[in-house]
Amino acid sequence: MTILIIGGGWSGLAAAVRLSQRGHKVHLFEAASQLGGRARSVDWQGLAVDNGQHLMIGAYRHTLSMLEDLGAENQTLFRRLPLDIKIHDRDYPTLRIAAGHGLPWPLSLAWRLWRDNDTACFQQISRLNLQARRFKPTEDLSVRDWLNQSGQSQRLIRQLWEPLCLATLNTPIDSASAAVFATVLSTTFRARSDTDLLIPRLPLGETLPSLAERYILKQGGQISLQSRIEEIHITNGRVQGLVTQHGQRFNTNHIIVATPLAAARTMLNKQLSLPDCASFPIATVYLQYPASVQLPAPVTGMSGSLTQWLFDRRELRPGLVAAVISGPGQHETLDKKSLLKQVASEIHQHWPLFPVMPEQGFVIREKRATFACNVDIQRQRPNNRTEITGLWLAGDFVANPYPATLEGAVLNGEQTAIQLMEQLDASR
Ligand SMILES: Cc1cc2nc3c(=O)[nH]c(=O)nc-3n(C[C@H](O)[C@H](O)[C@H](O)COP(=O)(O)OP(=O)(O)OC[C@H]3O[C@@H](n4cnc5c(N)ncnc54)[C@H](O)[C@@H]3O)c2cc1C
Repeated sequence: MTILIIGGGWSGLAAAVRLSQRGHKVHLFEAASQLGGRARSVDWQGLAVDNGQHLMIGAYRHTLSMLEDLGAENQTLFRRLPLDIKIHDRDYPTLRIAAGHGLPWPLSLAWRLWRDNDTACFQQISRLNLQARRFKPTEDLSVRDWLNQSGQSQRLIRQLWEPLCLATLNTPIDSASAAVFATVLSTTFRARSDTDLLIPRLPLGETLPSLAERYILKQGGQISLQSRIEEIHITNGRVQGLVTQHGQRFNTNHIIVATPLAAARTMLNKQLSLPDCASFPIATVYLQYPASVQLPAPVTGMSGSLTQWLFDRRELRPGLVAAVISGPGQHETLDKKSLLKQVASEIHQHWPLFPVMPEQGFVIREKRATFACNVDIQRQRPNNRTEITGLWLAGDFVANPYPATLEGAVLNGEQTAIQLMEQLDASR
C-alpha cells in the first residue's frame, strides 16, 4: 500500500525520504509548482534567491544528517563559520558574542563574553544561559517576564535578547514562550560546534528539496506538483484516501499531513480538533550593491532599528546583501519601496561606504512565515499520531522542542515516518 504524503516542504520530504529508505512506496502531493514550502528558491531577475534568508546552526543534527544521507557534502551546501556575531546599536556600544577557541567549552565562550563586552553583560548573559538549562517547561511565562525576573538590563534586552528571540521564535518578547526560548538557548550553547553558523551557499531549493526529490523518485516514489489536496476521506475513524483539486481520488490506509497548521485545519476541521494558532510574518529585503562594498562579517545584528539581521550573500552574487525583519511590526505598514529605502538608509548610516540606495532591491514578504510561538504553545502542539487510524501529522507545528524551524520540520517528518513504520511492523 502506498503511503500518501500531503505537503512538499522540508517535513513532508523528510518523511518521504525516511520511508523510501526502508522500501515503502510513497506518493507526495504538493499544492505549489515547486518543492520546499517555506524554505524554497524564487527567481529575482534570473538569480535564484530564497523566499526568505535562512540560517542554520551546528545544532541542527537531524537536518544535517538527512542532507548527508542524501549524499550532500555539507561544506558544499553551507558556509560553516564559528559563532562570532556583532550587534550594532546607535545608542549602545557594539555587543559581540563569539564562541572563542583555545579553551575548553564553555570557558572559551565565557572568556570571550568577558573580553569583548563589559562585566555586567558577561554576568547577565552567563546567568540567563544557566537559568535556561534549569528552566521548568511546565512553568511557562513570556520571554520579557523571564528576562526581567533574571535581572537582565534594558540594554541587553534590546540589543541581544529581543533580536535573538525574534530571529528564533519570530515572536515578540512580550508574548513569546520563555520555555521554548530557554530550549533554544540551551540546545544552541550545548557544545561549541552547535553554535556554528551555517549559511547556505546555494539557493535553498538546491539543498534538501532537490536532493530529496531525486532520492524519492530514484526509490520508485511519486511526486505530484500543483496537486492541492481538497479532502481526506475518513470512515469509522479510519483513513480511506484523499481527493486532489483535480478531482482525482487515491485510496490508502496511511496519510501523512505535512502542511502548515492552517491548511491541516481546513482539511481536517470535521475530524480533528487542531489549535487555531496565529502566525507571524518575516520580510527579507535583498539589496544589490556594487561588488566593491561588503559587510564587515557574514552575519551582522542590528538593534534599535527596523533592520534586525544582515547577511552577506556575496556567494550568490558579489555585493548582494539580505536584510531580515522578523515578527509583526512597523515594517508591515510600509510599502515595498519605503521598506527598501529605510533598510538601505540604516545600512548607510552604520557603514557609510554603502551607497544611500542599492543598485537594485527586492522585497519578499512571507505573511504567514511561522506560527506564533506564544506562552504555553507547547501544550497546544498536536502529536504525530492522531486518534484517526492511519492519519499522521508532520510539519514544524507538530510537537517538538523547537519553534518553527527547519530542524523541527525535519525532525517531525522523521518521527512520523519512524512511528508509522513501527506500527506497520507491529501489525505484520
Ligand atoms: C522567510 C522565512 C525565514 C525563515 N528563516 C528560518 C531560519 O533562518 N531558520 C530556520 O530553521 N527556519 C526558518 N524559517 C522557518 C522554516 O522555513 C519552516 O519552519 C519550515 O520550512 C517549515 O517546513 P514544513 O515542511 O513544516 O512546512 P512548509 O514549508 O510550509 O511545507 C508545507 C507544504 O505543504 C503545502 N500544502 C499546503 N496545503 C496543501 C494541500 N492542501 N495540498 C498539498 N500541499 C499543500 C505547501 O504548499 C507547502 O509546500 C523561516 C521561514 C520563513 C518563511
